[in-house]
Amino acid sequence: MKSSNKALVWFRRDLRLEDHTALAAAIAQGYEVIPVFVFDKIILDKIKDKKDLRLTFIYDSLKEIEEELISHGSSLTILYGDPCTEIPNIAKELKAQKVFFNRDYEPYAITRDNNVINELKKLNIDVENFRDHVIFEGKDVVKNDGTPYKVFTPYSRAWLARLQQNPQRLKKFKVTKSSFHIFNNKLSISNFDWMNRIGFQYTENIFVKGGRSEALARLKKFKTKIYDYNHLRDFPSREGTSNISPYIRFGLISIRELVDICAEGKNSGEKSWLNELIWREFYQMILFNFPKVEKAAFKDEYNDIQWPTDNKIIEKWKLGETGVPIVDAAMRELYLYGTMPNRLRMIVASYFCKIMLQDWKVGEQYFADKLMDFDLAANNGGWQWSSSTGCDAAPYFRIFNPYAQSKKFDADGEYIRRFCPELSHFSNKDIHAPHECDLLKQIEAKCKIGEDYPSPIVNYAVRREECLKLYKTIK
Ligand SMILES: Cc1cc2nc3c(=O)[nH]c(=O)nc-3n(C[C@H](O)[C@H](O)[C@H](O)COP(=O)(O)OP(=O)(O)OC[C@H]3O[C@@H](n4cnc5c(N)ncnc54)[C@H](O)[C@@H]3O)c2cc1C
Repeated sequence: MKSSNKALVWFRRDLRLEDHTALAAAIAQGYEVIPVFVFDKIILDKIKDKKDLRLTFIYDSLKEIEEELISHGSSLTILYGDPCTEIPNIAKELKAQKVFFNRDYEPYAITRDNNVINELKKLNIDVENFRDHVIFEGKDVVKNDGTPYKVFTPYSRAWLARLQQNPQRLKKFKVTKSSFHIFNNKLSISNFDWMNRIGFQYTENIFVKGGRSEALARLKKFKTKIYDYNHLRDFPSREGTSNISPYIRFGLISIRELVDICAEGKNSGEKSWLNELIWREFYQMILFNFPKVEKAAFKDEYNDIQWPTDNKIIEKWKLGETGVPIVDAAMRELYLYGTMPNRLRMIVASYFCKIMLQDWKVGEQYFADKLMDFDLAANNGGWQWSSSTGCDAAPYFRIFNPYAQSKKFDADGEYIRRFCPELSHFSNKDIHAPHECDLLKQIEAKCKIGEDYPSPIVNYAVRREECLKLYKTIK
């Protein structure tokens, strides 16, 4: 036991004190733990919107952690700057013997963490990092020849087999709260205006509230209906999914806690939910093994597509003014709350690439700017799937018909009415394609197309054919 020795635990995308691998390891090794969080200036400088809701989410989540630490006489050390200098500096200043953190698989994070490790080594400070964010990382699940999977179904089979062989991967990590360094922190989240310091504005009452308590409340609610997940998940007004993604993204809840509730696969809902958690790991694995996807198509030949860029229609898509109600409702939800159900992400992404014929990377970036749950691996995977440029993607000729999707998944138009209230008076039948209504019907619905709600920005049938031609140019 090294009870008098201090160690830093660097919190990043793991904002919780429970089942935290690095934290549990530091405690198990007998260290007095100093929890640290760095507002990474390099990441923050790239965010143009100074009211970005994710900063409020992070702030509230840190506050909840801090409150718990304070109840144990400790606190959370907050820093702002480049972690490559901030972490070594604080470790040196506080005379920490070791730094612990959980691994992150994004290319920027890998480079940053390697730099931090090198700087710590120069100072003779030990460092240890852990798998925490996923059940199986990078090269844990590979094909028999040792190469990474590129197709989801065999990957998921191998993933499940690995879990059966290694059930201890779901074991939770115990955190003893009495092991924290006791100190009075003048620069804590509660004592200092950190939002102002980092140049962002706090937003009251955001829709996706930060904090582990909110994550647990959402999970509790979802557990009561998980059995119905596979029947309801595609219907945006049925709330059939967990809505837990921002909490997984920032690690307010551990992946082990989630897999635990569905690993037995007692019914089709649990099986189907587990499958989605495996999709998450699949895309993490793809990003780790094929980091080129961050900037380019997984299938190289698709980098040659000459997208006919049209900034005017891109702006209309962003604002939810395409004239296609299901697309507009989803884009308005994204704009207002930073959320969007999976089925709608597929519809709007497919519409963007294959009907508007715009470069998937532009749409991907907008999602990255707006999504509360933005995760490079999942977002990139979703966009490359939708644009058919990715591994195991939809075939290029699979083009979602947004009108048919709308009729199927929002049959009574409830979701459309929520975000496009100007269309409220159209009948359930007409609301999916109101531009097809004659003037009399439009007057009855108190909404003239082209005046009160936009006409479609492009012609679906024409663009569909153009899309097939465009993709064939590189086939
Ligand atoms: C174009 C596009 C972009 C996307 N961008 C992101 C993103 O930035 N961040 C993100 O977390 N997910 C992304 N997804 C995946 C998916 O849409 C969201 O994870 C899901 O909508 C979150 O809602 P939920 O928590 O209710 O999910 P549930 O249906 O309850 O699923 C549980 C969890 O499984 C994971 N998951 C579910 N579906 C997927 C999937 N297809 N790929 C990877 N993980 C999945 C998520 O962590 C999710 O929280 C994207 C999908 C598409 C098509």
